[in-house]
Amino acid sequence: EEAQALYAAAHPQSRRVHEAALSSLPGGNTRTGIFFDPFPVAWARGEGATLWDEDGHRRIDFLGEATAGIYGHSHPVIRAAIEAQLDRGWNFGGHTAMEGELAALLCARFPSLERVRLCNSGSEANTFAVQTARVVTGRPAVLGFAGCYHGGFLTFTARDNPLNVPFETVVAPYNDAEATRRLIDAHADRLAAVIVEPMIGGGGCIPAERDFLLMLRERTAQHGIVLIFDEVMTSRLSPGGLQARHGITPDLTALGKYIGGGLTAGAFGGRAELMQGFDPRQAVPLQHSGTYNNNVFTLAAGIAGLGQVYTPEAALALNARGDALRGRLNARCREAGAALQVTGLGSMLAFHARRGEIRSPADAAEGDATLRALLFYDLLERGIYTMPKRGFMALSLPLTEDDHDALDAALQDFLQARRSLLCR
Ligand code: PLP
Repeated sequence: EEAQALYAAAHPQSRRVHEAALSSLPGGNTRTGIFFDPFPVAWARGEGATLWDEDGHRRIDFLGEATAGIYGHSHPVIRAAIEAQLDRGWNFGGHTAMEGELAALLCARFPSLERVRLCNSGSEANTFAVQTARVVTGRPAVLGFAGCYHGGFLTFTARDNPLNVPFETVVAPYNDAEATRRLIDAHADRLAAVIVEPMIGGGGCIPAERDFLLMLRERTAQHGIVLIFDEVMTSRLSPGGLQARHGITPDLTALGKYIGGGLTAGAFGGRAELMQGFDPRQAVPLQHSGTYNNNVFTLAAGIAGLGQVYTPEAALALNARGDALRGRLNARCREAGAALQVTGLGSMLAFHARRGEIRSPADAAEGDATLRALLFYDLLERGIYTMPKRGFMALSLPLTEDDHDALDAALQDFLQARRSLLCR
């Protein structure tokens, strides 16, 4: 509460922005996942890895738009691509050469993609991947994992199903190969798909164990169930995503976030035979219409980004930097004897306020949520923006070593200032 009061006092303009929006948006907000109390920061401008808010504070952006912001703010190559498109126009109501170019870049990169469809978000990509599996197999149900997030439409919770999952679901425990194998076997003849994040992203950067993923691959193949990797976030973790890193090829993959150069984007695809139904030359093709599926700004920015900026070499370098940063932050926590650690892989990191191994969302839930919230406010006050509540960070290309040093220093301040709470 004290930290929130401090925050509120320092952000009068953000408060005004929030209050003005209350009359038209429920809670003054339209991004549930990154809302925080008493009101979120209203950002005014971004450049490189720096954000300025409406009150004039400067923050280093370690949230990186939850992985979509890999290029940082106003990357010159992305900007040039968008500007060139501005000169050529938009809303053509037809096709351009660019959709094939972006699709070819994606297929060249991600091992499971022989054919791909473009859409507008990770949520859409997962929804269409799941529906593709249901149509192709003629089966009704989908197995997902408690604590995985697949977008606004498809969140598998251990409790009630969300409002709008219009099909039967089976919910399994993440990284528990034995229990999941039993559930797959028990429901095999009803299961169209198994959908999994190969590392849980926003839910705390919890990597799937390779043996667990191998079991999913083996069991789904045996039963004719479509295995879907939701790589909306994790596709950045190697030149070919986590599927390439593990050498495990799913049947379908969902993508999103940075693949549109930081503009609204999504894609889903896989083996040609599974995607064949979308070929519009057939008598009865599968319907996947969408006015903005080939939005020219997304295409131009996505092609420039994947083709020129987030090259395979850049992906390896960014993830190596992430591993080094995680090691450094964890060393600080250990040295301080604090109940705090950083999980993740490569350029995706998440703080957890607890000791011991974190293999599942249940392990993560044992962390001290209040302490982690305190970390968010304390880091923000020291000029570092991370994901509110969840302690999530996604590195962007323009972050410098100085920026990493600044996060390290801010963490050390936190460890010192909150010693009594962290070292119990
Ligand atoms: N899948 C995963 C793993 C995600 O992290 C997200 C977004 O955070 C989504 C899907 C949904 O993507 P979008 O927000 O573009 O709809």
